[in-house]
Amino acid sequence: MKYDVAIVGGGLAGLCLAIQLADTNFKVVLFEKESYPFHKVCGEYVSMESYPFLEKLGLPLSSMNLPMITHLKVSAPDGKLLEQTLDLGGFGISRYTLDNSLAALAIKKGVHLKTLTKVTEVQFEEDTFAIKTAQGNYQARLVCGAYGKRSVLDQQLKRPRAITKKNYIGVKYHIKLNFPDDVIELHNFKNGYCGISKVDGDKYCMCYLSDAQNLKDHRNDIKIMEEKVLMQNPFLAKYFKEAIFLYSSPLTISQISFAKKSAVHNHVLMMGDAAGNIAPLCGNGMSMAIHASKLAFDLIARYFNGEISRTQLEKHYEVIWNKHFAQRIGAGAFLQHTFGKEKLTNLSVGLLSKFPKITSSLISMTHGKPF
Ligand SMILES: Cc1cc2nc3c(=O)[nH]c(=O)nc-3n(C[C@H](O)[C@H](O)[C@H](O)COP(=O)(O)OP(=O)(O)OC[C@H]3O[C@@H](n4cnc5c(N)ncnc54)[C@H](O)[C@@H]3O)c2cc1C
Repeated sequence: MKYDVAIVGGGLAGLCLAIQLADTNFKVVLFEKESYPFHKVCGEYVSMESYPFLEKLGLPLSSMNLPMITHLKVSAPDGKLLEQTLDLGGFGISRYTLDNSLAALAIKKGVHLKTLTKVTEVQFEEDTFAIKTAQGNYQARLVCGAYGKRSVLDQQLKRPRAITKKNYIGVKYHIKLNFPDDVIELHNFKNGYCGISKVDGDKYCMCYLSDAQNLKDHRNDIKIMEEKVLMQNPFLAKYFKEAIFLYSSPLTISQISFAKKSAVHNHVLMMGDAAGNIAPLCGNGMSMAIHASKLAFDLIARYFNGEISRTQLEKHYEVIWNKHFAQRIGAGAFLQHTFGKEKLTNLSVGLLSKFPKITSSLISMTHGKPF
């Protein structure tokens, strides 16, 4: 069977695109290497930008009793604190719940969801894509790459190496803690930061990004690194002491890089982190992935209706992707760079706490509008 669209990766970008395409009666196959439900390293704070879109897609967020987050607190490694009301705000939901709910919706809409299926090769020849997986081969008229930060496919597709000298690790816990429901806190430490906010199921997500060097410097032992680096921040020291940790060990990922990528490669339309990832401290990589799926869907529908050619589809997608996300990613990289430096963070947090309007405009530089 030849599909209209094959999507590689069943995270937010892939699932949201699949649902929109199936809703319009396109034949869609989505490949996901894991099996739902599963946990993912993510801060699990979703910017409100994508709330109306997710509801329109069929996800009943308003009846899921989710925490609505309206306040931000940022601390510097030396304990200085900045407090800010969030103009747009967000909501908390675990990836375990969010991705699983979208996957159930995709199946209901008629998406052929192939879980535990890792795509190892994508080839484009004579206007058709051949897709290889360990479970079999498939054909499609169009392929979308929604496979996240990095994948074996990057090498196979000969994309420039997304691993740079400077790379990061991500660590996530679900915890129980005496903590307000409507606040997201971001606590900086040397070469990293840790976010805490509420998610569904009466628990909190505690997730941090650290320069990989921090771990190397501490015998590759997360516990030692947390004690010697993260807990130098007085807020983190308190939370690590008081929290009840709900996993026996943390969920971790490594080799996260923020190297520039392309939105189209070898005729594959890339979206979400596969096209470019924003620094997590901005708290809206998920909304950007969801938004990219909408932008791609609109153009894909026009392509299949014969309004635009494949060349125009690829060109328009690249232009629109850059228009919506390139500047935000750049602003996020700048903020991450600033907050990566201990002394500069101490100084910036101290200064910004006196100028809420500047803080607010810095936040808005990395955010879009509801779509
Ligand atoms: C530490 C950290 C904290 C973060 N915190 C936040 C936050 O609080 N708020 C926010 O909005 N964003 C946050 N982000 C960013 C956010 O997690 C991502 O931007 C978002 O998940 C991107 O969605 P995606 O659909 O592109 O990719 P993913 O959600 O990563 O999905 C990609 C999927 O593809 C699958 N896959 C990969 N390769 C293959 C293959 N070859 N075959 C089949 N399947 C494959 C993977 O298993 C995965 O399920 C954070 C990121 C990090 C690293």
